[in-house]
Amino acid sequence: CGITGYIGKNNGVEKVLEGLSKLEYRGYDSAGLAAIDNGKLNIVKTKGRLKELEKLVLEGKVEGNVVIGHTRWATHGVPSGANSHPHTSMDGKIAVVHNGIIENFRKIKDSLLEKGYVFKSETDSEVIGHLISYYYDENKDPLLAIKKAFDSLEGSYACLIIFLDHADKIFAVKKDSPLVIGVGGEEVYLASDPAAFIKYTKNIIYLENNEIATLGSDEIKIFNMDLEKVDCKVEKSNLNE
Ligand code: GLU
Repeated sequence: CGITGYIGKNNGVEKVLEGLSKLEYRGYDSAGLAAIDNGKLNIVKTKGRLKELEKLVLEGKVEGNVVIGHTRWATHGVPSGANSHPHTSMDGKIAVVHNGIIENFRKIKDSLLEKGYVFKSETDSEVIGHLISYYYDENKDPLLAIKKAFDSLEGSYACLIIFLDHADKIFAVKKDSPLVIGVGGEEVYLASDPAAFIKYTKNIIYLENNEIATLGSDEIKIFNMDLEKVDCKVEKSNLNE
């Protein structure tokens, strides 16, 4: 399983697909991506190989300068289109990719179902987007909504979140699953492993456990779970292509 992301001035769909292909060694059964393009959030996802996803991307002419991608190794719910990531909020304005396991998803899912939330998949991951959207509707603050959601989520996660209402940023959260940031001029890359983007930049920020990052093409900020800003150290990787 793996995660990639891109935000910048250009179309990032190919780079996200290319990054996912560099992560194929990690194993997967499905793949998907979400891209924001001119105020529209497009999702393509499918069971099977990356080739299948690439076909859908070409057919749908999917582009965007804010893109998150995912290869899934199913832990909860069979490999299927519906269970593939990204998962979205009910209004389709928030998209989430997640590697890891949400241990307490059953309890959270039950309470969201009671509140009227409708689920489209059998995954543990789908609760993430719904819970973020629940808090976002309360305060309209994406960072605070993510913090509040992850305060009640238990388990392991490398997670990327995009909001149609905040299309100048990708949000990232990490605990016990790998997630690194690549800083390349006015372009920011995200991945489970720097190999996914090393061709484009060797400047890397290693996200620590229990950190939330906000990534824009001109600014990167990292917070702890109390939303206090923490230093971000950019390291030079000696990894080769
Ligand atoms: N637990 C999630 C699922 O089954 C994510 C699996 C993964 O890490 O790819 O969908």
